[in-house]
Formats: sequence, C-alpha cells, structure tokens
Amino acid sequence: MSTNLLPTYDDVISRYEPVIGLETHVELGTVTKMFCGCPTDFGGEPNTQVCPVCLGLPGSLPVANRAAIEATIRIGLALNCSIATWCRFARKNYFYPDMPKNFQISQYDEPLCTDGYLDVEIDGETVRIGIERVHLEEDTGKTLHVGGATGRIHGATESLVDYNRAGIPLVEIVTKPVPGLGAKAPEIAKAYVAELRDVIRTLGVSDVRMEQGSMRCDVNTSLNLPGAEWGTRTETKNVNSLRSVERSVRTEMLRQAMVLDSGGTITQETRHFHEDTGDTTSGRSKETATDYRYFPEPDLVPLAPEPAWVERLKAALPELPSAHRARLKTDWGLSDLDMQSILNAGAVELIERTVAAGASPEAARKWWLGELSRRANAEGVELEAVGATPEQVAKLQVMVESGKLTDKLARQVLEGVLAGEGDPEQIMAARGLEVVSDTGALTAAIDEAIAANPAVAEKIRGGNQAAAGVIIGAVMKTTKGQADAKTVRELVLARLAG
Ligand SMILES: [Zn+2]
Repeated sequence: MSTNLLPTYDDVISRYEPVIGLETHVELGTVTKMFCGCPTDFGGEPNTQVCPVCLGLPGSLPVANRAAIEATIRIGLALNCSIATWCRFARKNYFYPDMPKNFQISQYDEPLCTDGYLDVEIDGETVRIGIERVHLEEDTGKTLHVGGATGRIHGATESLVDYNRAGIPLVEIVTKPVPGLGAKAPEIAKAYVAELRDVIRTLGVSDVRMEQGSMRCDVNTSLNLPGAEWGTRTETKNVNSLRSVERSVRTEMLRQAMVLDSGGTITQETRHFHEDTGDTTSGRSKETATDYRYFPEPDLVPLAPEPAWVERLKAALPELPSAHRARLKTDWGLSDLDMQSILNAGAVELIERTVAAGASPEAARKWWLGELSRRANAEGVELEAVGATPEQVAKLQVMVESGKLTDKLARQVLEGVLAGEGDPEQIMAARGLEVVSDTGALTAAIDEAIAANPAVAEKIRGGNQAAAGVIIGAVMKTTKGQADAKTVRELVLARLAG
C-alpha cells in the first residue's frame, strides 16, 4: 500500500484500535454569571453585560453562584457520579486576550463530581461510557478578528474582544478513555454526546444548543496496534454539531493511520475541525498541566455541599431519557426495532407531543416516520424543522379518523401545512379538500357512473361484486378523489342490489 494515500476506514480498523475520550463544555442557563451578578443573556451588544468582577479589575472579589453549583451537582448525580463533600476552586493561569484576569477560575484536582458513567444505546446494545469528572469553571470572552478573509487572526487588521460571555458558568464533563469500540468509535462518540445533551436538557440546566456554542466538544482520539499500549492522542477542539463529532473521530483515525503507516509519530496537540471540508488541521502543541500553574483560588471559600442537600437533589431528579424511552416503548407497545427507528429518526419527542395532542401512538409514528421523514430527508432538514407541528399532525389524524378526510386528502392538506398555508382546517376550507359526504351529490355521481357503464352494472346486478371497481373509479373521478372509497362502494352495491 502506498504510504502517501489516505487508507480506507475498513483498512484502518482492521489494523488499528481506536481509543476515544470526550470533554464536553456546557454553559449553564443561570440568570447571572458564575462569580458576579451580571446577566447571562445571549446576543447582547458587546461588553454591555460586564462588571469589575468579570472584567477582573483590581480589588474585585468573586462570590460563587449557588444555582450553578446546584446545577453541576444535579448533572453529576444524573451521570451516576460521587459528589465531593469538600472541594476547592483553582486558578488556571494562562494568557489569552479573551480572559480578562489572565487566569480562569476552574477546578483541578478537587472536582465537584467524580467517577460516574453514562449508558449509550447503539443498535440495540448498551455501551457504558465512564465519566472521569464533572467540574465547574467560568467561560472566557470572545475574540473577533476583523479584516481577514477567513475571520481568523491570520490576515486580520484588528481584533475586537467581547467580555459578555466571560464569567458565565461552564460545566466540563470529561469521560474516561474509551477503548475497545472498534469500527463503531465515531458513531458511539456521537451517540454519547447526543445522550449527554438529552440528559442535560431534561435536567433543565442548559439549553445545550451546539450551534450557539452553549454545548461544545473537544474530541480526543488515538490509535494503537492490537495488544500494544495506547497511542498518542490528539484533541480536536470545539466541535459544534453531533455530525461533526462523528466526522472528527473518523477523520482523525484516518489521518493518524496515514502518519503511522508512513513511519511517522503522532504529536500530542490540539487540532481544529473544519466543518466545510471535514478535515482537521494542527493547532497548538498541548500545554501540560504544569504549564497552567494551578493553585487553589485564594479569593473563594471551599465548597462543602451538605450531604442532606445532595440527597434532596438526588431524590428530585426528573425521569432521565433512558428511563423515559423505556417507559414510552412499553406504553406505545413497540418492539426494540420500532423504538430504535424512532430514535434514529430523532422523532421521540415529536411523536410524544403528537400523542399528547390526541393522535394514537401508531398513527403518530406513521406520520413522522413516513411522509414527514421522507419530506425532511428530501429537503435535508431535521425532522423538527420540517414545517409541521405535532399539534397540526394530531389534528390531521383526528380528521382522518372522524371521516372528514381520506388518507389521500390528508396528504394534500399536509402539503398545505408544510407550505405554510396554516392549520389543517384552514387549508381544508381554502383548498376545498373536504370529503364529499353529501349523499345527494354522491347519489347523483353514482347514477351517472351506472348510466355510463350499463354492461358493468348488469354484471354487478348478476352478483359479480368485483366488477364494482369500474363504477367506483368513475365516481372517484367525478368527485376528484374527495369521496371515501369505502362509502362509495357500499352505496354502489346497495344501488345495484336489485
Ligand atoms: Zn460581572
């Protein structure tokens, strides 16, 4: 094999074993920042949500936000972690223009939550991902480079900094290294982040929006020969979508295999993931822990969560996504395979809301996994962005069941809903899509069809009911498909019964 060519994925996993690890940052949805009273709203004018504390002005003193500590403990409990009875914040020293104090208040060797796990389901199997630690820190500001073509510092004429985000509470969730995943490593990395996002969303402590950066992932990847020690890892920074988590692991596996195949060594470094190409490029060589000169933060008292408080928080945890899915599966009477297809389509919540709005689980599933999934795929959008709400789908289904719409008409009404023409009733009225149930109009259409097909009518009179299809077809044509075929059939047979 040529050493200059990127190997295929199958080739890589036949010769190497990947080890992955994920560090996920989640911005908490607290009203105020971690160590001051500044608001945390997203999208404010630059540098309007700042004060002496989060600007790191001399003489200002931080005070820890209790709501953020509580949220972090709840995340730790949901991830089956042990909660420290005593721990401290630490200063992580590094110079970066978006960090006003030139250090970040974080946690180092005394994190709030340690040694937990999160179970991830994939293809009907459960993979347990170990959680090393969950700790609390503060976010940095944001730097904007102006004048360059790429928005990066290279080629920029000036750089602006916005400290609105500086000091927003940030939880970091670090997994233990996960070996033994083989070919599924990229997929499991993605499934882990998706499950973690759902857990945190269920806890209600963050809006976990990857596209807005309130949840972001650093993805560690290494390769080793079977039976050998783990390889040197690289850390792909700030991966901002579920799809990119999967792609970044796969890309790094391929790149590292190419380097190793050509006799090279992997450098421990951070790498940037490029959404457009799916490539990673070298960032900076990774600082080791000593470079940060960690020491306990002298301006803050230690954290000592009372065990009784932690117990209360544990008892009050909501039903977590895995338990919730298990319950829905039973309630809806689904097989593992059915539930898996709903999960894969990202339709659990949509179906749940459709059922809550009055549709049966079976009908809700049929709409979302059928017509609406096809439509979402065709348009390349997520199912929830397809343009129909669960409430509209439920209304449509109720109208089908009450006989106001046939399946065929319902699909036409759905077209209108997706085109933004309004609610099902409005579209039905505006497009004139109601089932023709006026017996007078139907009888007239049937008489006309019988008169036009005398030979067929004679066969039916003679007992050949299968021949009725021709008459029914003619009636459906006259009513532009807006009659219920079953009703028409009954009326035709009654008419020709003698
Ligand atoms: Zn502030």
